[in-house]
Amino acid sequence: MVSLRNIIVTMKVTPKPEEIRFDPVTKTVDRSKATNEINPADKNALELALQLKEKYGGRVIILSMGPPFWDQFIKMGIAMGADDAVLISDRALGGSDAFVTSKVLAAAIKKIGDYSLVITGEESEDGSTGQVPPGIAEWLGIPVVTYVSQVIDVTEDSIIVRRTIKGGVTKTLRLRCQPYYQ
Ligand SMILES: Cc1cc2nc3c(=O)[nH]c(=O)nc-3n(C[C@H](O)[C@H](O)[C@H](O)COP(=O)(O)OP(=O)(O)OC[C@H]3O[C@@H](n4cnc5c(N)ncnc54)[C@H](O)[C@@H]3O)c2cc1C
Repeated sequence: MVSLRNIIVTMKVTPKPEEIRFDPVTKTVDRSKATNEINPADKNALELALQLKEKYGGRVIILSMGPPFWDQFIKMGIAMGADDAVLISDRALGGSDAFVTSKVLAAAIKKIGDYSLVITGEESEDGSTGQVPPGIAEWLGIPVVTYVSQVIDVTEDSIIVRRTIKGGVTKTLRLRCQPYYQ
């Protein structure tokens, strides 16, 4: 059976959507009174990573780029079972769009190195562009599959996943991933 190395999970912290207010005077989104939480899709990504670790081994590492207060949520991820975490926080990165965010996260993933898989949420609850994950793959030059609903198996040179897209269409895909596995 294949033995995984680092499994990197990207994690964003987002305000609960139902608590976000629109300021009619400034015409901006006011997140200041909203409760923050781990982006729900990223919690699912972490859960999947922990299940894969149980089956195939490896180390689960949380990767996040955001303000310093996000560390309390990252610690929750550690409490859930992650082995390690990296939080990139610099005022210069505040307000980054998906292009910059994906570039910074990809650079961090390269630095962490020795990774078998990068697992992300499909989109964030607030920005919701869904552009960061394919952006990361592009910067790293690795294959990407989106809207994964289940990982069926991981083999020496591929990962077999079920993909469910809007409208309820489900497909099973084999993604060749050499040389990221051993
Ligand atoms: C100092 C600082 C302050 C910031 N403040 C804010 C803020 O107030 N509001 C805000 O929305 N963003 C903030 N960011 C982060 C950044 O601007 C956004 O994360 C980025 O624009 C992502 O766009 P999206 O939400 O559309 O991502 P999507 O492409 O919709 O996200 C898809 C998936 O990509 C991953 N991902 C996305 N963003 C991140 C991230 N930052 N870290 C780890 N994984 C990620 C997650 O797995 C997510 O499920 C801040 C960053 C820094 C450094």
